Amino acid sequence: MKRMLSAIKPTGQLTLGNYIGALKNFVSYQDDYEMICFIANLHCITVYQKPEELKKNLKDAVALYLAAGLEPDKTTIFLQTDVLEHAQLGYIMACNTYLGELNRMTQFKDKQAKGETGLTAGLYTYPCLMAADILLYDADYVPVGEDQKQHVELTRDVAIRFNHKYGDDSFVVPEPLVTKVGKRIMSLDDPSRKMSKSEHNDKGCIYLLDDPKLAAKKIKSAVTDSLGKINYDPINQPGITNLIEIESALTGEDIDSIVARNKDKGYGEFKTEVAEVVEKTLSDIQARYKEIIDSGKIDEILEEGAMKARKIASKKLKKIERKVGIEIKKRK
Ligand code: ATP
Ligand code: MG
Repeated sequence: MKRMLSAIKPTGQLTLGNYIGALKNFVSYQDDYEMICFIANLHCITVYQKPEELKKNLKDAVALYLAAGLEPDKTTIFLQTDVLEHAQLGYIMACNTYLGELNRMTQFKDKQAKGETGLTAGLYTYPCLMAADILLYDADYVPVGEDQKQHVELTRDVAIRFNHKYGDDSFVVPEPLVTKVGKRIMSLDDPSRKMSKSEHNDKGCIYLLDDPKLAAKKIKSAVTDSLGKINYDPINQPGITNLIEIESALTGEDIDSIVARNKDKGYGEFKTEVAEVVEKTLSDIQARYKEIIDSGKIDEILEEGAMKARKIASKKLKKIERKVGIEIKKRK
């Protein structure tokens, strides 16, 4: 069975974008792949997080993984910090990544271009840690939204170079898997921007733990255009296109069919339809979320997941340390 790995960093409450672009797909893959999903709590402190809020977000993220349908006996679920090998291999990867490569990462460049201040070294070198996260488990595939594709490509470059230097049996070179529908859900109040949990944009963003009625309202007040025709046209009608993508991703109905069915409808009527789908999706997820939180099983699930992950990760790290020449003890 091929192995698949993914993670989400709980820099805030998970969004509908995270659900459509990531979580929902992980769930559909777990029967066909050996799935490893972790909570990237090291990545989230590359930007300051209020400790108490972060703790809550971590727990919510695990509960939402489970509520979305990940099953611990099919998917290994754990916290990144519970497997120390991530940070250790992250350092080795940083020593095998060129500054030029990091300078080309659009996510960091965008933040710089926006004039954000206080950008940390951790944020700059985050792709090295992400490479370690993936390579530690010899993952064949990494399902990501479009925004993360470049980081997986960097991981490939680093792995290929490392294999060339130290031997082809070092790392499996992973491939990114980007979903067709919903790879980039846009902000509802500015469809030129990605819906992102760290932007704290309450109007433009639907959080999975939003009151479902409020989420429906946000859909109904989404920014559209003045063309008055329901078309799938990301360039000229990004707002309507975003709503079509949301509906298609959540119901599984083809984009063409949604467009054909709604072609004579006004925006208001179409928005009501999408709002109902979103409201129902959130209600279902939240009912399961509540059950999971009430069950008190999260710690146990994370401990078991970490144990499984450590087994794979420690073997890999030892092998890589030996190859690089930084350990001399003979270990079994
Ligand atoms: P941040 O603002 O902190 O970067 P984020 O919402 O972009 O948060 P990430 O933790 O960076 O979330 O990404 C988690 C997963 O969700 C990744 O696979 C990413 O590609 C996917 N994802 C994030 N936002 C969207 C979106 N708007 N549409 C589709 N997929 C998304
Ligand atoms: Mg992101």
